[in-house]
Amino acid sequence: MIVANWKMHGSRQAVSSWISKVSENLDFKDSKLCIFCPPSCYLEYAGKLLNEENSQIKLGSQIVNESEAKPLTGGITAAMLKDIGADYVLIGHSEQRSFIRDGDTGIAKKIKESIDDGVIPIFCVGEDLAKKNNNETESFISSQLEVLQILSESQLSSVIVAYEPIWAIGTGLNADRQYIEKIHGFIKQYLKDLCSIDIYVPVLYGGSVKLENCEEIISSDEVDGLLIGGASLDPEIFSNIFNLS
Ligand code: PEP
Repeated sequence: MIVANWKMHGSRQAVSSWISKVSENLDFKDSKLCIFCPPSCYLEYAGKLLNEENSQIKLGSQIVNESEAKPLTGGITAAMLKDIGADYVLIGHSEQRSFIRDGDTGIAKKIKESIDDGVIPIFCVGEDLAKKNNNETESFISSQLEVLQILSESQLSSVIVAYEPIWAIGTGLNADRQYIEKIHGFIKQYLKDLCSIDIYVPVLYGGSVKLENCEEIISSDEVDGLLIGGASLDPEIFSNIFNLS
């Protein structure tokens, strides 16, 4: 599963050109998933183009709001996302946590509501550099994962987790494979302990993934996919990463 997170980039022209180039280039072997998350103002347009291309690329949103936040000027609910054909949504991205002060209570509600409305949450967790340097990564990530405790086991089986160390996002400094494996192993054990039944929650890695490091990162059995920001903007680079992963 490879996710393209365009953040606050793009235009109608860029969306259209990316979709046609990427649709042409991607090799969907082994039922690998590609999820495209453009800015929300281009979601419906991207969905229309993907339908016209009969593309296997899935549509994802970068944001969602809790429906109980109503009235909320500028808000978007999971039901609205489903209505325009988005099947996935990023929740808890560190930029949303810091910029709009997205907190654990709201994040928990958004995750639950998205699942109830048929939109799969990609729940982002990750530590900043100070926590990493203080050896607090695992305790911090545990505290972020706690929001999942409100889910039933069947709801939990609809969640995707993305481990994104904040110090690696957009910095060019990716976590090394050994570190990623350790933290992914920790996340998987936490999720296992949360459930009495055996469920599979994919754990993606995000943070300065590029053409040069994607193969090494994805080759780990602990890594179920990649969440890619900057390197997803160029259709050729993104397609190459997808096909190599
Ligand atoms: C992201 O946007 O979640 C991300 C990981 O960005 P980048 O790949 O640019 O570090």
